[in-house]
Amino acid sequence: MTTLEKLIIHFERFPGIGARQAKRFAYHLLSENPNQTQELAKLIEHIHTSIVECEMCHCFFTAQGDRFRCRMCSDTTRDHSKLMIVEHDTDMQAIERGGVYNGFYFILGGTVPLLNEESTSKVRGDALKHLVTQRVSEGLSELILGFSVNPDGENTGRYVEALLKNIITEHNLTIAILGRGLSTGSELEYADPETIKNALKNRTQT
Ligand SMILES: [Zn+2]
Repeated sequence: MTTLEKLIIHFERFPGIGARQAKRFAYHLLSENPNQTQELAKLIEHIHTSIVECEMCHCFFTAQGDRFRCRMCSDTTRDHSKLMIVEHDTDMQAIERGGVYNGFYFILGGTVPLLNEESTSKVRGDALKHLVTQRVSEGLSELILGFSVNPDGENTGRYVEALLKNIITEHNLTIAILGRGLSTGSELEYADPETIKNALKNRTQT
């Protein structure tokens, strides 16, 4: 296999990228200035050491010394009574842009699609259980399900509720879903700050 073919195969593995686009990316690199491709290669080479995963919420952040907690999880002034569970890092960033939520987060890592029974292996169920147990001892009282407003997002909500059923009952935790200011089918990541503010204000208990 040639270098070009190998590159194309790597690009094809990117989310939402098909064979044609992968080919365009590879040829684009060939047309780039070698300094630029070198810089890109260096960034990719160091991605796992320069960006690390938070041990609490599992978001990615730029490594600084031996810190294992992100800025949000290290912030003791945040509201310990709330934990919002979202699909991806980009959802957390969208909520933060809204500027009204002051609780903690957990990044589930994806959705549990309705039609794929085995998909739960791709989300961080065990880590979520662990974190909720820990946060309960620190005063957690409300879980907010911050998933996309579509069938997969709703199914993910049901999965989380079933997963945490015992802890929820035992500690009388409230479960809230984001208000339907978010239009049906919308992904949190793309919602504007005003919509997010309203969705949070109008969150409803399940
Ligand atoms: Zn964190």
